[in-house]
Amino acid sequence: MLKRKPIRMCIVCKQRGFQDTLIRLQHKEDNIFLFQGYGRSFYVCHSCMGDAKKRVGLGKRFKINSEIFDKLLKEIDG
Ligand SMILES: [Zn+2]
Repeated sequence: MLKRKPIRMCIVCKQRGFQDTLIRLQHKEDNIFLFQGYGRSFYVCHSCMGDAKKRVGLGKRFKINSEIFDKLLKEIDG
């Protein structure tokens, strides 16, 4: 039997996509990291992550400075 690719949802735009097309992040102690293999995680798509306004929105949602997302974006792109 074929194993189905897992579908995940971007928490910003609610678009669904395959897990490997979304960025998996993790919220821990007032900071956001790329998912490190354990703990609770969430997904953001590349187009939301690339949108400065949406990054500000995400910052508000997690009550953190949105610069964290700007830095993560650089990590992901670089
Ligand atoms: Zn999105």
